[in-house]
Amino acid sequence: MAVDLHLHSTASDGSVRPGELMGLAAAQRLRTVALTDHDTLDGISEAREAAGHHDIELIPGTELSLEFDGGMHLLVLWLEPEPGPLQDRLEWLRQGRDERNLAILEALARHGIEVSAEEIAEQAGGGGSVGRPHIAAVMVRKSYVTSIAAAFDLWLARGRPAYVARPRLSPAEGISLARASGAVPVLAHPHTLGITTARDMAALLHELIDAGLAGLEALYAGYHRHEREGYADLARRFGLVATGGSDFHGDYKPGLDVGIGYGDLYVPDDVVDQLRERVA
Ligand code: AMP
Ligand code: ZN
Ligand code: FE
Ligand code: FE
Repeated sequence: MAVDLHLHSTASDGSVRPGELMGLAAAQRLRTVALTDHDTLDGISEAREAAGHHDIELIPGTELSLEFDGGMHLLVLWLEPEPGPLQDRLEWLRQGRDERNLAILEALARHGIEVSAEEIAEQAGGGGSVGRPHIAAVMVRKSYVTSIAAAFDLWLARGRPAYVARPRLSPAEGISLARASGAVPVLAHPHTLGITTARDMAALLHELIDAGLAGLEALYAGYHRHEREGYADLARRFGLVATGGSDFHGDYKPGLDVGIGYGDLYVPDDVVDQLRERVA
């Protein structure tokens, strides 16, 4: 059976409610899914209840953006919505988002693009983890840009006029806080690291593995077959579990489906069994 270990809901920057997401997973006959909303566990209880109705195993999780040139995202699996070392830092991360979002709106306003804090909060539907995709969606709705991708490419991506950084944990902090919370840390979509040599990748992986990294997201929806094979081989050589997922965001990432990604994704369920062995 197939699984999907990277999903976003309305608790962060997805357009589908956590409960409905489990319905989509059931329609794809998935055995296990992980809900990995950015910097929040707010969707877990709704997802868990719906997963129970559909006889799906739900792995509670989150996705963190860590301090790294390029971009490093960490999927944190089996992170329970209860007090804990990492859980207690999530509120701080969300507050950093809110302050960063206001700075982005000010930067856009300087360029004549009028988006208000109320509009992005409304776009986020009251979800606690508000981010750039919500700002991008309001820009599309108000016809400043023609797509979310264009909003990033022209304004919001790193290096563009309205890019503003937000507070992040360091890689070692994120990974060790995840471990201290009983969770399993996985390096997400490794291409965003921007690493171009095998030597630099090896040095980084050694560092992250020392901190407690358990897996590498090799079977990513956005990858071609040769990329999935290359990253799976890398994972194997470093003793990491080659995980996978769609990074489904609903309307915020058009064309992507739960479980099957762009139509050619298949993440086998033995990945979950391998990961479970890595829970401390
Ligand atoms: P934030 O966490 O608020 O800074 O927003 C980051 C999120 O925006 C990522 O997790 C992606 O879902 C999305 N994103 C980042 N870069 C792009 C891009 N170039 N085009 C579309 N979406 C993007
Ligand atoms: Zn996202
Ligand atoms: Fe990500
Ligand atoms: Fe993601």
